[in-house]
Amino acid sequence: YSGKKIAQSMADGMVDMKVGDFQSIPVVVNENMSVYDAICQMFLEDVGTLFVVDDHHCLAGVLSRKDLLRSSIGGVDMDKIPVNVIMTRMPNITHCSKHDSLLQVAKKMIDNQIDALPVTEQGEKGLEVIGRITKTNITGAFVALGEEYDL
Ligand code: ADP
Repeated sequence: YSGKKIAQSMADGMVDMKVGDFQSIPVVVNENMSVYDAICQMFLEDVGTLFVVDDHHCLAGVLSRKDLLRSSIGGVDMDKIPVNVIMTRMPNITHCSKHDSLLQVAKKMIDNQIDALPVTEQGEKGLEVIGRITKTNITGAFVALGEEYDL
């Protein structure tokens, strides 16, 4: 095989990589959870981003590490303030479907300067969170692509 053919087939492989093949289990918290409990949850679940849902289990917002750090140094009463006060909220959440290409999602991460996107599905009452795709998943896909070519 020529280098050109390998490059072409790698490019084809990249376009075929879908979110659904690389996504992780989402970690979600209810919008009424306290900031304090959300911080505990982030450590317990060992994730960098929590997705926030309403009482119908539909996507309401996102909490990053820095969102939680900011509020913890900002003098708010972490035991009393619910996460829906400090989260980034809908409709400003960048989300994706399991059928989206990984490359498309990677571009959204770079353009929006975010580390993770919820993978969602339209439900009766709103968007249901079915997965999580992070920069770590993208890095894993990058490595997997290399391994396919013994690189
Ligand atoms: P950190 O804030 O820890 O650096 P991020 O870079 O992921 O983590 O988040 C930056 C900001 O963007 C945070 O305020 C966060 O709430 C928000 N954010 C994170 N993920 C998303 C997303 N998928 N859609 C919209 N906003 C997001």
